[in-house]
Amino acid sequence: MPPMLEERNVLIVDDSAQLRKILSKIVRDAGCTSIRQAGDGIQALAELKESKFKNAPVDLILLDWNMPNMSGLEFLKKIRENPDHKETSVIMITAEAQRENIIDAVKAGVNSYIVKPFSEETVLGKLKSLIASENKQKNKQ
Ligand SMILES: [Mg+2]
Repeated sequence: MPPMLEERNVLIVDDSAQLRKILSKIVRDAGCTSIRQAGDGIQALAELKESKFKNAPVDLILLDWNMPNMSGLEFLKKIRENPDHKETSVIMITAEAQRENIIDAVKAGVNSYIVKPFSEETVLGKLKSLIASENKQKNKQ
């Protein structure tokens, strides 16, 4: 997993086009150049496949919980079954009302989470602390 946020291949999954736009601006402003988007879990699975095919496999996912067709939690469970995505970093984005459900996401292997509404600072802070803890973990091994 690349040690710097700028080097990560990011996938933003949210059914709101506006939120996708906001999130991609935040990660782009943070220096990321490889950013994919999907409107639900099914599209997100296709993006993961495509990214692998293009030799730039997604390694960081910002994942909305509430989406049609396949929810964020369903998507998370699905990718964690795949050895390719056991280690992929996933940050779940959840509505305030679902804050207590985050335990299910933790059980399913989420790495971090953000509660809506969020600020740019919150998203950047979560991204940076996640990557810092992954790097720490890696150095211990
Ligand atoms: Mg949503």
